[in-house]
Amino acid sequence: MPDLGTFDGLPVYGTSAVIGAGAKKSLAEALDIDPILMHDSDTICVVLECRVADIGHRRKGDGWTRNHKLDAEIATIVDPDTVQEAIELQRAKNRRAEEARKGLKQLPGMLLEEHDRGEHELIDKVDGCPVCFPDATEPAAPPAKPKRAAAAKKTTAKKAAVKKGTSRARKR
Ligand SMILES: [Zn+2]
Repeated sequence: MPDLGTFDGLPVYGTSAVIGAGAKKSLAEALDIDPILMHDSDTICVVLECRVADIGHRRKGDGWTRNHKLDAEIATIVDPDTVQEAIELQRAKNRRAEEARKGLKQLPGMLLEEHDRGEHELIDKVDGCPVCFPDATEPAAPPAKPKRAAAAKKTTAKKAAVKKGTSRARKR
């Protein structure tokens, strides 16, 4: 995990973000200009350009969680191919995090299959995978906790958020 800095002299341990009602308006605007017909169970890729509109901190242990409110200024529906790599990377990370939460230990065969599908390359190397770490007998040490270091930076940069949606349109 990256160093998230400090707020009020205490470490920031995590972040969150919510997208405000502007997302609805931006998407409606895009569809008014370029109507797209969607069908039940379609997978639609929506890219949002958001501005960080508000920042707050909430206590978490001996530090903070930093919460961001995002205003979506532009929404556009894109060809899934243009964001495929980012989506697949996130899907692989989510699955790995879920497995870690459940304390599942993967068998070398499953790890090899994942490796062959290119998932490990996307995430970086995966502990326990015989191809990523051919000589390893022990998994690598867990990453260190974030340090108390530089003051928290104010985020003003525009960020693009990728949102995957499923249409509720009826089949015709
Ligand atoms: Zn691997």
